[in-house]
Formats: sequence, structure tokens, C-alpha cells
Amino acid sequence: LQDTWLGIDLGGTNTKLGLVGPEGLAARGRFATRQDRGPADWLERLAAEVDRLCQKAGGCRPAGAGLASPGVIQRPRGVVLTSPNLPAMDGFPLAEEAGRALGLAAFVENDANCYALGEHTYGAGRGRDVACFTLGTGVGGGLIVGGRLVVGALGSGGELGHTLAEPGGRTCGCGAPGCVEAYASATGLKGLLAEALARGRQTVVAPGAEADDLARAAGRGDPLAGELFLLAGRALGRAFANVAAFAGLDLIVLGGGLSQAWPLMEPAARAELADRLRIVDPALISIVTSELGDDAALMGAAAFARQQAGGAKGELHGQQG
Ligand SMILES: [Zn+2]
Repeated sequence: LQDTWLGIDLGGTNTKLGLVGPEGLAARGRFATRQDRGPADWLERLAAEVDRLCQKAGGCRPAGAGLASPGVIQRPRGVVLTSPNLPAMDGFPLAEEAGRALGLAAFVENDANCYALGEHTYGAGRGRDVACFTLGTGVGGGLIVGGRLVVGALGSGGELGHTLAEPGGRTCGCGAPGCVEAYASATGLKGLLAEALARGRQTVVAPGAEADDLARAAGRGDPLAGELFLLAGRALGRAFANVAAFAGLDLIVLGGGLSQAWPLMEPAARAELADRLRIVDPALISIVTSELGDDAALMGAAAFARQQAGGAKGELHGQQG
């Protein structure tokens, strides 16, 4: 019985894809997204890459395709609405067109949501309800409750990066003041650095340095760099306390490039979580880094397709798995 699903992680720069079977990731590929050539050209190259992957995997045919896309997704049609990192797909009926190009049922979900579903299905949160934070250029989020993604009627469920960290604080990319993303993302840290330098603070880090440079400096004991990671950690601790209060989850998975700097943020995050969360024991909350890393979103996209194709078929697959 066919139980292989195609997962596609559509990024602004690269597109990653993989065939996900009962044993996990069976084959993977990647190609440059090249947004300048437009969506039709991307779909052609995607279809060719999928053919190549299926041949490599011994001629299998996936049962359906899941696409992880940045930005807000209009459900249930799977249209990508305004995404700052993916302007070429703005308003594009991605699920429909990808389904046509691949000859498969195709489903689209937000990339951080797919990340969470990937970790829940195959990774650090296997079989457990989980909140996922992807710490990268921004802060993505995904919430799995009762084994399902929480998106809600507005579609904005799980946008944990846009919960409040600092009332009246720095302006986030979304335009609101004080979001978690304005502190615990690469963009947030770079902004914090620029503001500290403008106030005359001293640091070994050059102006305009990347978040990894800042992490290295903090690791070597640079006081300012260390302080900025404390601010990022404090923002995360507040978000974790909120997650515990509104969903009661005891597992938080951190992904994205900046999650490698988690040890620099952990003490402040843990202290803030303990201060903010009194209704349950904060020590019951596990905070771990991703197991699947770069594969999480595409594996979650495959799991999403399988869930959506769902119904009796989904249950059958569930019994098998
Ligand atoms: Zn925001």
C-alpha cells in the first residue's frame, strides 16, 4: 500500500523537498527558488525535481504533497497571502497550481506550523502536544494541541512570535510594539545592537554584525552581546509562560538558526518563566532544541498532507504507522 508523501519547504532562497515514508525521510532534494522567474517557472522545476527524486527512490509515487510556505495562508484553498520573504507568491493559488503541476493532491500550510508538525510526528515532540518556536530572521511559531495544528478561524493561531514580550517595546516587523520577534530573532538582535551602539555602548562586535557574530562574542564574554541575549531569553521566557497558561503544554521545541544560541538565552528564559508562571510548576516544562533541523518543515508538510488527505484513509495509515 502506498504510504509515501511528498514534503516541500518553499523558502525565499531555496526550495527543499523530500519523500517521507513510514520509516521517515526516504530521499531529499533541493533547488534554488529563483523568485525572479515567477511561480510558473518554479512549478516546472519543482515537477522535474520530484520526478528525479521518485526515480532515485525506486520509482515510487507519492500519495499526496504538502507545501510549507512562509507567510499567512488563506485556508482551505491554500493561497499564499502577503509574505515579506516570498513576494513572488503573493496571492498565488499554490495548492491548486502545485496539485496540477505534480498530478497530486496538494495542501499548503505555514512553514513554522509545518515545522511544529514535523517535530510532533517524527522529531523531538514525537506523539506529544508541543509548542514550537523557530528562531531565525523572525520568530515563527506552531502549536499542536490534541495532535492537530491550532490555526483557528482567523488563521493566526500559533503565531507565537507576535505575542507580547515588552509592553511599549521595540517595533516588530509586523508593526506592533514589543513582540517576541522584536527581541528573540536575528533581526531583533541586530536592531538591539544598533540601538545600543547609538547610545554609545562599547562591544567587540562590529556595527551591522550578524546574529552568529553576536553569539560568538557573547560566548567569549563580551558584556553587551551577553546582555542582548539575556533580553532575547527574557522575551522567550514570557512567551513560554503564555503558552503554558493558554494551552497547558509541557514541551517546547526550539528550531531555526538562532536556536543554536539557546544556551546563551536559557538562564534568562528559565528565570522569567519561573517568575511569570505560578499556577503550575515551571520545572515541569521541557525546553529542547529541534531533532530534525532543516528537515522539520518538509517532513511536517508531508505529515500535513497525510492528515488533510485524512478521513478513513488517514485512520488506515495511522493504524499502519
Ligand atoms: Zn509582531
